[in-house]
Amino acid sequence: MTLLLKAGLVYTGDREVEGGWLLSRDGMIAEVGSGPAPRADEVVDEPNCVAMPGLVNAHDHMYQWATRGYVPDGTLFEWLRTLYPVWARIDADVLRVAARAAMARLLLSGCTLSTDHHYVFPHGRDGLLEALIDIARELGLRFHPCRGSMSLGESKGGLPPDSMVEKEDDILADTEATIKHFHDPEPGSMCRVVVAPCSPFSVTPELMRDSAALARKHDVRLHTHLAETLDEEKFCMEKFGMRPYELMEDLGWAGADVWYAHGIHLSDAEVDRVAETSTGIAHCPSSNMRLGAGACRVEELVRAGARVGLGVDGSASNEDANLAMEAHQAMLLARVRASSPRALDARTAWRLATRGGAACLGREDCGSLEVGKCADVACFRVDDLAHAGIQDLVAGLALAPPARAQTVIVNGRVVVREGRLLTGDEDEIAREIAATSARLAG
Ligand SMILES: [Zn+2]
Repeated sequence: MTLLLKAGLVYTGDREVEGGWLLSRDGMIAEVGSGPAPRADEVVDEPNCVAMPGLVNAHDHMYQWATRGYVPDGTLFEWLRTLYPVWARIDADVLRVAARAAMARLLLSGCTLSTDHHYVFPHGRDGLLEALIDIARELGLRFHPCRGSMSLGESKGGLPPDSMVEKEDDILADTEATIKHFHDPEPGSMCRVVVAPCSPFSVTPELMRDSAALARKHDVRLHTHLAETLDEEKFCMEKFGMRPYELMEDLGWAGADVWYAHGIHLSDAEVDRVAETSTGIAHCPSSNMRLGAGACRVEELVRAGARVGLGVDGSASNEDANLAMEAHQAMLLARVRASSPRALDARTAWRLATRGGAACLGREDCGSLEVGKCADVACFRVDDLAHAGIQDLVAGLALAPPARAQTVIVNGRVVVREGRLLTGDEDEIAREIAATSARLAG
């Protein structure tokens, strides 16, 4: 099965090819060129679009789509304490509806590969991770589900209520079963499982250590939240006598198989350690600004050689799942933080949103439009009112309001065409999430 995509401009991640094209064969990129194009079973011609590598979402909590707009002005800990009891009511049906909305929005923003960090497993609710994996298959998104967990309840000094935490043996057993059942390590994989205890303030150090051992036994990746707020830093100093990064490195959580969400409050020495150990950081600018958490030291991390990707984070602290918006926000936030327009340029922002995220997720086969890589492509219209006439199209797409994706291809399959989702009914998804959110709010 071959698919030919032609575009006004093909931005491979390194090169910008005017009047370029890309040929996909069986889900992988077989040729990239310009001028006369080869024949193909299916042809998509987008003369008014910039085609670029599909965007990669390196941090998310899709269940949160059902709880958007809560605690509009709260800190992370205030926001969490209010939302935990609401999240305690979720089940596989809620998750299915929320994930369908979150993934639809991701695809429509040009995202082709996403992770999801799911750590809420209320007692007696089964089939949660399975629901997420089902919906990713249904909508055609390349997916890395993280089996998250919480084990440190309030009575033991943690943040979540006791009713929401699981037993550590159960967590480890279920995580191992999930890896065995769903993890596909092959190149071109559509599903890879990640081991992901939630945060230093919601699991024990023992679970962090055991989770790292389990992940390494099965050669899968590790993900958690780290250094998101100063409240977390205070918690770690009081409870463990260590700064968050120091604690995690001590527990075996540094290395090329680990990536953290946020990594905001890192010292100079910690920025260097993150880079030296090849640990990844998923920067989530919209969520960080919404919660007033702080601004990640993106330029320093990139300069030090760290792997940095972008994430939308859960939509309860973002109210959307638009990866192109995160590239836009990352660029602007870095410039505010540095008081300099040279802090983060547009092409670097797009690199974070593509190959930077792919590197966090361990996907050598994703993140750029090169022969032999996965045929994951996002095409953005540049002839609409918001973008028509803009100079330097690649920079313009990051400077201007994020464009809605016109065509999105995942694994050589067209899933968005003419700005509409082909694998789901957007209006129906909106109706379902409205009803589910209302029911959950009670
Ligand atoms: Zn998060």
